[in-house]
Amino acid sequence: MRYTDTKLFIGGEWTDASDGKTLEIANPVNGEVIGAVAHASRSDLEKAVEAVVEGFNIWSATSAFERYKVIRKAASLLRERVEDIARLLTTDEGKPLTESRMEVNSCADLLDWFAEEGRRTYGRVVPSRSVTVQQYALKEPVGPAVGFTPWNFPMSQIVRKLGPALSAGCSIIIKGPEEAPAAPAALFRCLEEAGIPAGVVNLVFGNPAEISEFLVPHPAIRKVSFTGSVPVGKKLASLAGLHMKRVTMELGGHAPVIIADDANIDAATTALIGSKYRNAGQVCISPTRFLIQSTVHDQFVESFVRKAEALKVGDGLADGTQMGPLINERRRNAVEELIEDAVSKGAKLETGGERIGNSGYFFAPTVLTGVTTEMRALNEEPFGPVALVRSFADLDEALAEANRLPFGLGSYAWTTSSNTARRIAHGIQAGMVSVNHVGLGLPETPYGGVKDSGYGYEGGSEALDAYTNIRFVTHETN
Ligand code: NAD
Repeated sequence: MRYTDTKLFIGGEWTDASDGKTLEIANPVNGEVIGAVAHASRSDLEKAVEAVVEGFNIWSATSAFERYKVIRKAASLLRERVEDIARLLTTDEGKPLTESRMEVNSCADLLDWFAEEGRRTYGRVVPSRSVTVQQYALKEPVGPAVGFTPWNFPMSQIVRKLGPALSAGCSIIIKGPEEAPAAPAALFRCLEEAGIPAGVVNLVFGNPAEISEFLVPHPAIRKVSFTGSVPVGKKLASLAGLHMKRVTMELGGHAPVIIADDANIDAATTALIGSKYRNAGQVCISPTRFLIQSTVHDQFVESFVRKAEALKVGDGLADGTQMGPLINERRRNAVEELIEDAVSKGAKLETGGERIGNSGYFFAPTVLTGVTTEMRALNEEPFGPVALVRSFADLDEALAEANRLPFGLGSYAWTTSSNTARRIAHGIQAGMVSVNHVGLGLPETPYGGVKDSGYGYEGGSEALDAYTNIRFVTHETN
């Protein structure tokens, strides 16, 4: 499939921006412009609001079973098109094809699961104090929603909003990622061909700040969901709070990994290499602060560095590539600055730390040891292929470091002691803890953070709750 320009999808129609404005899309492999995406104007956004309101009227009056059939159909269309969509995804985002295929398939799995779960949005009968009174609680769709989604998982970040919204009976406007719009458009085509009524799903791109400042306060919008950085999340949550909107915030992380001295080091480094360098580290739950018990520190570093150096970095479309480029020059520069700062303050560069080649945004898988809390990298989310390693003497020290930052999204631990595992699972301040494997992000499991990493969930039945209100009804029958 050839890479094509992306339009807006509003009220069931694919359209250019009303003023014809577009943004260029660059291939992160070489920086070359490969296409354009329509940049919504204010009048396009007004049309999107009208459409999403009409969509809500239709979709909320559609039975859960009919909704289920449309969403399942879209999931099966996605599966039929995995190969084509994965190529689009790799072309503008950069991740290896294997990861893109996984992302498209995981979107189909998410849609299937939410479609099923939407049939189980049970209410509750509450025993009353009188035989003539019936009391019950119903779950109602919260209303037209808006979701702001980033470029690192251009499709699955959308599906984590759109899936629960649709299955709960909400309509939605997605402000998709301007950096990587092609695969999101392909997802919306699947929904369109699956028979979703006009206006139920709408896709816009443009200036993120302008779009959020218009849509978040808009009285027609009843729910706001955002995935992205902490500063932007705080801004949008404040704006939503001012207008009393329901909010889900999935923000940044700085995931700690605690490796105890009784851990299986080889198994840990194999799993963690895959997880650390997935999508070149541009993942909110990427393992980042590696806290290693001092007696196994050198063994861990030797094994991890050897595996990091064996990774094949290159064009995501090429056979065998295990890590692609970073999304753009801004991210590459940000990663470089964090590494320079750490090295200037005494960190040891065990491997990587430099750009690869003269074109595109490739950066070598990097491991730094001897990192300290004075270094920026140990405080700011690196969002790149950088592993920060330091040693600890006892578990209290490791937990104190794990909990030091305001982030609290993903976390990881390796140990063969059930007591250590329990202490970590209960003592760590994070929304998710994965022990002895990398097991976060399945459709059926809660996905969300605490502290500055946000609130609300984008997985499991909790994700559906985020798109429903409870209506209590009490009914005297005579
Ligand atoms: P950024 O803060 O400029 O943007 C992050 C996201 O927010 C982008 O998708 C952007 O379009 C959107 N955005 C920015 N301003 C907005 C506004 N006023 N209203 C609505 N949306 C707005 O950062 P970036 O350089 O694109 O990405 C790097 C940082 O973003 C990372 O450090 C990471 O913390 C965060 N991020 C997190 C996730 C995640 O999965 N939680 C995903 C992508 C980016």
